[in-house]
Amino acid sequence: MLLLAGLLAMAGCRDKTPELELVKDDYGVTQRINPNEKSVYLVFTGHYSTDDDGYFENFDGAAPVLEILAEHGVKGSFFPTGNCFRVDRYQQVIRDIIDQGHYLSAHSDRHLLLCSYGDRSVNLVTEDSLARDIQGMEAELEKFGLKKEQYRWMIPPYEHYNQFSADALRRLGYELANPTEGLVTGLDWMGPGEPSYHSAQQLMDNIWQFEQEHGLNGAILLIHAMNYPNRTDDDRLYNHLGEIIEKLREKGYDFKTFHDVIAAEQD
Ligand SMILES: [Zn+2]
Repeated sequence: MLLLAGLLAMAGCRDKTPELELVKDDYGVTQRINPNEKSVYLVFTGHYSTDDDGYFENFDGAAPVLEILAEHGVKGSFFPTGNCFRVDRYQQVIRDIIDQGHYLSAHSDRHLLLCSYGDRSVNLVTEDSLARDIQGMEAELEKFGLKKEQYRWMIPPYEHYNQFSADALRRLGYELANPTEGLVTGLDWMGPGEPSYHSAQQLMDNIWQFEQEHGLNGAILLIHAMNYPNRTDDDRLYNHLGEIIEKLREKGYDFKTFHDVIAAEQD
């Protein structure tokens, strides 16, 4: 009888969907999801500003990224800032992201720098100023019919935070993810001549070298869905997304989104 009960309990375990294992950094921010699974999480961010220190930022890469994802039958996760949601020309692409089954959350409202780059312990937001920014972001997401439980996974602005700001975002109800440390594809916005400039080819070489050394199981791979004026079209990493997807598939990886993470959390 005991043996039978044991076997039934084991069968019960097997019936359950796999548990969610999150690999976190020192601030409790998720960097890898289910590190035993050959799945990659493609994440796309976008900002919009016309006066940000002379840079013109946009979400113009979103439509071509959607086309490439559709061509390859892959779902991704999108994180535009609240500012992108207010731009007339992005209304359709934001609806397309939702309608095509991709994950959509946001990347703060105005892309605030949360703490200093020089001294990470120096806060550049307060609990109140961060809460106000997030409220602005939520108002935009909700205009598209999304509810907090559907978008509670977000990527902090600049992918840069400290313990205070990571905890403050969690107190606001968010779960935080960031690109897997060592993957430097988020440098795809810098132009030639800038100190950390990497060409699209160099960024892809980094992915494959990282894969050889550490694997990409459960990795979070960030690409900006943005057209920075300081890079040529061919040097935009997202224009090479099809090649990246094909090579990852050849290596045995599939693709998941934060919809899958939320579904696993609800089991
Ligand atoms: Zn960003």
